[in-house]
Amino acid sequence: MNKGVLGLLLIIGVVIFIIDEYWPIIVVAIIIIVVIAAIIINVDKKNMPKNEDGSIMTFEQRRLLEEKERIRKKLIEKERVRNVRKDVKMELLGIKPDEFERKRERIPQNVQDKVWNRDGGKCVLCGSRDNLEFDHIIPFSKGGSNTYRNIQLLCERCNRAKSNNFG
Ligand SMILES: [Zn+2]
Repeated sequence: MNKGVLGLLLIIGVVIFIIDEYWPIIVVAIIIIVVIAAIIINVDKKNMPKNEDGSIMTFEQRRLLEEKERIRKKLIEKERVRNVRKDVKMELLGIKPDEFERKRERIPQNVQDKVWNRDGGKCVLCGSRDNLEFDHIIPFSKGGSNTYRNIQLLCERCNRAKSNNFG
């Protein structure tokens, strides 16, 4: 018999002795451990993100959710930085927000000339030649640009009416 086998037999002997002496304590300890483990697993399940039908999300679904959440946070942070930058710019230039908006919307002279010629120097809605304004078809605030295609001639009255509709 080599030393390894002898050592193993010794350990088994000690374990049997301990079990024989203390088995009620061991049984109680095992039951307590199982109960605690069950509680932990249950709490874990409750905290896991679920689908709309109440089923627990798969690993892939959870990863997608986390990815979306990360992107959402990034976008919010980007938007925040953009707003802060805008504020700082306005402070540096010493102008009020509405002035800033107007400056931003200044239409290049060559675009103004082209639009004027295309629309025949009159309001495209009612044909009036009084109080004409250059109007962004898609508003600046909704992503419209200062391009020829996005600008039209409107009289002040039609322009106000349109602004009110856009809200
Ligand atoms: Zn008009």
